[in-house]
Amino acid sequence: MGSASYVYLRWIGNKEPEEGMLEEVKDRTQSVFEVPARIMDTNERPAGAFDPARGQYSSTKILRWVLRDVPVDARKVVAITDGDLFIPVLTFVFGEAQLGGQGAVVSTARLRLDLSGLPSPSPLFRARLSKECLHELGHTFGLTHCGFSRCVMSRSNTVPDVDAKDWTLCQDCRKLLVELQKRTGDEP
Ligand SMILES: [Zn+2]
Ligand SMILES: [Zn+2]
Repeated sequence: MGSASYVYLRWIGNKEPEEGMLEEVKDRTQSVFEVPARIMDTNERPAGAFDPARGQYSSTKILRWVLRDVPVDARKVVAITDGDLFIPVLTFVFGEAQLGGQGAVVSTARLRLDLSGLPSPSPLFRARLSKECLHELGHTFGLTHCGFSRCVMSRSNTVPDVDAKDWTLCQDCRKLLVELQKRTGDEP
């Protein structure tokens, strides 16, 4: 508790973020988790996370980098990148988070395109990004995967999986979140 109160959304992409994109994630974060959120503006980028052989970024290395420099008033930090993320055992990941920890990272790379590889309309892309940010943030608050397919905490392996879920928590996850926050003293 103490002064740590904000969820920080930290853009660490190669290009500039789409206009208004981070604000949309911020609004949804505030409404779903009922915590104040802020956009963190910085020019620093994680070095050494790019794997030239795979042409992708190590989500684990980015996460470690993010956690080295957490603002004092941060409850959580979600790094958002346009680089494609991987963990060694998987072709790609939409994101990675510390379960019950402070950090998460999410990639926009796979969320822009539909299954045929065509760019999706911006509102659809932004809804996907919000869902994946909320999902990873849910893990940092201690929530695990949910079996209810519409819940934002349900597991998504593909873009259609992301589209099939809502950007809200189901009733069970919402109840569990309140419990977890009481137990960890991580209350708003
Ligand atoms: Zn997950
Ligand atoms: Zn759920």
